[in-house]
Amino acid sequence: MTETAAGQRNAAWDELADREDRIRSLRHLADDELRAKLLDTLREEEAAVGHWLDAGDCFVMSGAGSVHLPICPSMSAFIDRGKAWAPYLDDLERVRDWHGSDNVPPMPALLTRADVEAMSAYKACPVCAPALDHRDKRAGAKGWTVLKAGSLDRRHLGTAFSLPDGSEIGALAKITTVHTLAGTDFRAEFDGLGSPITGPATELMYRN
Ligand SMILES: [Zn+2]
Repeated sequence: MTETAAGQRNAAWDELADREDRIRSLRHLADDELRAKLLDTLREEEAAVGHWLDAGDCFVMSGAGSVHLPICPSMSAFIDRGKAWAPYLDDLERVRDWHGSDNVPPMPALLTRADVEAMSAYKACPVCAPALDHRDKRAGAKGWTVLKAGSLDRRHLGTAFSLPDGSEIGALAKITTVHTLAGTDFRAEFDGLGSPITGPATELMYRN
C-alpha cells in the first residue's frame, strides 16, 4: 500500500473515532432525521472499511483473539456495515439509550500484516485460514517464538529449532505431509535429531 493510501485510510478511520458520542448527541431528533443521520454514518463506515479492503493488507481481529481474513463468514457482521447497523436502524430506542454501552454497532478491529506479526500471540482462524507466519503464535521465553510442528513450512527450512525444554534439535531439513485414506502422515526432519517429529501438535521454538 502506498503512503497516501495508508494516510487516507487512517484519516477515514480516525474520523469515526467519536461516532458513539456524536450519535448520542442526536438522540432528540425525530425518527426520520435520526435514521438519515445513521445512514450517513453507515456510509462513512463503509468508506473507511472500503479503504482498508482496497489496500489488500487487511486482517480482522476477533474479540476472542483470532485473526481472520475480511471475507471470513464469522466477520461479516462487522465488515458488512449494512448488516451491522440493521438491528439498530430497526430499533431507534437502542440508539437513543446513551446510558447503555451498545448504542452503535462495534467496528471491526482491522490490522495490517505487520500489525499482526508484531503481536506476541495470536491464533489464525482455521475457517478462513489467513496465510500468516503462524497458525498459533504464543509468547515464548523472551527472544523465542513457539509454534507447533504442523505449522512448519518451507520458510522455516534451515532455521535452528529447540524443544520447549530448551534442548536443541538442529536445523529443519525436510517436511513431508502425506495424505492417505488412513489419515495424514506428518514428518519433520531436523539435522540434530535421529528420528523425525511425527506429531503435528509437538511444540517447537526458535530464536526471533
Ligand atoms: Zn475466519
